[in-house]
Amino acid sequence: MYNNYSMVDWCSSWALVGGNVICVSCMKWQTLSEAHEGFPHDLTCRVKDELTRYPWVELHQILDNDRG
Ligand SMILES: [Zn+2]
Repeated sequence: MYNNYSMVDWCSSWALVGGNVICVSCMKWQTLSEAHEGFPHDLTCRVKDELTRYPWVELHQILDNDRG
């Protein structure tokens, strides 16, 4: 499910700041230690149903795929 999802796409939805991953739509954030918990979007976040609930896991997959 990650094969066609590039780093560019990931970065259009998420940002890494100070060791946290941030949803660029609602600006909520999650630490790496919470990687396997669902991402805590704001209730009003417009993209929360479109994005993965596990952005850290998805980033890991992208990096693994790009590294080959
Ligand atoms: Zn959000």
